Amino acid sequence: MSDVSVIGLGAMGSALAAALLKSGLSVTLWNRSPAKAEALVAKGAVAAASVKDAVEASKLVVACLLVYDTVYEAFEPAKDALAGRTLVNLTNGTPAQAREMAQWAATRGADYLDGGIMAVPPMIGQAEALILYSGAHAAFEAHGKTLGALGAAKYLGDDAGLAPLHDIALLTAMYGLFSGVTHAFALTGSETVPAEKFLPMLTNWLGAVMTWLPDMARRIDSGDYRSDVVSNLEMQAASFDNFIAASEGQGVSSELIAPMFQLLKKAVAAGYGDADQASLVEMIRTRPQVE
Ligand code: NDP
Repeated sequence: MSDVSVIGLGAMGSALAAALLKSGLSVTLWNRSPAKAEALVAKGAVAAASVKDAVEASKLVVACLLVYDTVYEAFEPAKDALAGRTLVNLTNGTPAQAREMAQWAATRGADYLDGGIMAVPPMIGQAEALILYSGAHAAFEAHGKTLGALGAAKYLGDDAGLAPLHDIALLTAMYGLFSGVTHAFALTGSETVPAEKFLPMLTNWLGAVMTWLPDMARRIDSGDYRSDVVSNLEMQAASFDNFIAASEGQGVSSELIAPMFQLLKKAVAAGYGDADQASLVEMIRTRPQVE
């Protein structure tokens, strides 16, 4: 028996397996393309001939494959071997997919933890690598030390969908930031200002913007969008017209920032002109909030 089996040795799965080995654990591996196991076998891991063999080798099975369909496909021949084991699925997916897979695992007698990796492969095994988990609490408690070898482990609750929910929320925040920053660099670059010269001003500004987030969170939680407003949406929408015109005038497409302009106009039309930026959350909700 091994301490842990890792299914999937892409860039991320290989990093996970390497971190487990480095922490002194015994590791069994499986990957569709067997050659990817070779470097890890040289470091002491055991390569299994099938997913079923890998599952049978350990009480803890970590899967890190491309998408959830790949996980179902890979585990199909091993589904009867899962009983009494813990399946930790670190494949990126949606909350609904995680809940469905938790059910799938439960019908096979396995404990299930879903995970969201807030790191890139070189960070795995370090404290900076945050890994979010949700699902079977007892399994998280039982395997917390092993999972801690991968990075800082944070358990979010019994609902398996919570880890992917937070994972995707953090990633969408990151892509929102990338959208704005990409546009900003393109704008300054349109006058041949080097990106590295603009960078200190940009990072200082984003640091200042970050200090507004606690107020935004408080307003969203309380629904208080209209008191003490210092930058109302009607003003913001009027300025945004200039952002679009300036971008197009500088030869920069407005495609990254246009959705925010549309949303501001929608909010003003819906009567939120005197409200704070935080009220935009009401414009994008498509179902009533869960209390
Ligand atoms: P890779 O593309 O490097 O690896 C994909 C893995 O999935 C490989 O092991 C591949 O096997 C396997 N695979 C794909 N299709 C099949 C299939 N039909 N049957 C069996 N195995 C299959 O991706 P990563 O390792 O980078 O990512 C894995 C997961 O980790 C993804 O869900 C990703 O979103 C997530 N993640 C990745 C991060 C990153 O920065 N890389 C960051 C955070 C999360 P084979 O080697 O045979 O092709």
